Amino acid sequence: MTTTLSLLTPSGRLTLGNLLGALRPMAERQGPTDDRARYGISDLHAMTTPHDPALLRTRTRELMTLLLAAGLDRATLFRQSAVPAHTGLAYLLECTAHTGELNRMIQFKEKGRGVPSTRCSLFTYPVLMAADILLHRPAQVPVGDDQRQHVELTRDLALRFNATYGPVFTVPEVVTPAAGARVMDLAEPTRKMSKSVEGPGSILLLDPPDVVRRKVARAVTDSDTGPDAVRADREAKPGVTNLIDVLVACGGSAEGLTTYGALKAAVTDAVVAVLEPLQKRYVDLAADPVHVDDVFARGSARCRELTEPVLADARTAMGL
Ligand code: ATP
Ligand code: MG
Repeated sequence: MTTTLSLLTPSGRLTLGNLLGALRPMAERQGPTDDRARYGISDLHAMTTPHDPALLRTRTRELMTLLLAAGLDRATLFRQSAVPAHTGLAYLLECTAHTGELNRMIQFKEKGRGVPSTRCSLFTYPVLMAADILLHRPAQVPVGDDQRQHVELTRDLALRFNATYGPVFTVPEVVTPAAGARVMDLAEPTRKMSKSVEGPGSILLLDPPDVVRRKVARAVTDSDTGPDAVRADREAKPGVTNLIDVLVACGGSAEGLTTYGALKAAVTDAVVAVLEPLQKRYVDLAADPVHVDDVFARGSARCRELTEPVLADARTAMGL
């Protein structure tokens, strides 16, 4: 039985992209029992750029509640900061990683290299991510293209550690999930919808129906008014293609639709139909924060049990 691990960072409010591209497949990967699927909130990763403590707390709570509302209740749910082995192993891996390889990380290059006030944690973030992964010994790590370089680093660190100190870590295989839903921003359909970029082109999971309607109505399309204007063509019609993809991913069909108005109405209905039950569960769960806390407290305790021996092996191998 293989372990599957996914972490979500409370760097913003979850979007429709996160639901279709992450939460849904995560729900499908849950086994009949827990421990096989371990899903964490990587709150420590939300501190690599200037952050507001109160906002981090609010977003973390919202994310905890949303994970349960999305039906991930058969997984072991935990908070990274509640499992000290994550930071414990990160330090040991910092003693394995080279500054040269971290300096080449694309996210560091884009977000902070050369800026004196860049947090050190932005530089070492990929090492903490390697620790997140290696502690749980998953055979495979499903990641999108944007995280591929980080998982390659994780493999390199695991191989180097094992070769230098002995076989402690499973070297995970990187798997790219079958071309899954990649939801693009409605206002800028050539870039993906991201939770850290809030704007009119992002549908949030907790957006009420009228907000969804407004955002979809304002979605960028094109000036094509031909009889076959509603068709997928990622190069020439990125906005329309994205709307069709969202419609299909939410259980609808663009067949027979000839105008953008009709397409947008269908997209709104389909998205609202997907979000409504999730939002209902969210409201119920949010009314019982003690239950939500309890689920994460139990999951975090279980993860402490599961990860302590791995950290202990690594410490012993390194001479501690
Ligand atoms: P950030 O802006 O902080 O990077 P994000 O929305 O890109 O936020 P991540 O935390 O990077 O979210 O990724 C969480 C999960 O959501 C990953 O599995 C990622 O592949 C998935 N995901 C993120 N954005 C999309 C999207 N637009 N379409 C499909 N899946 C997405
Ligand atoms: Mg991202």
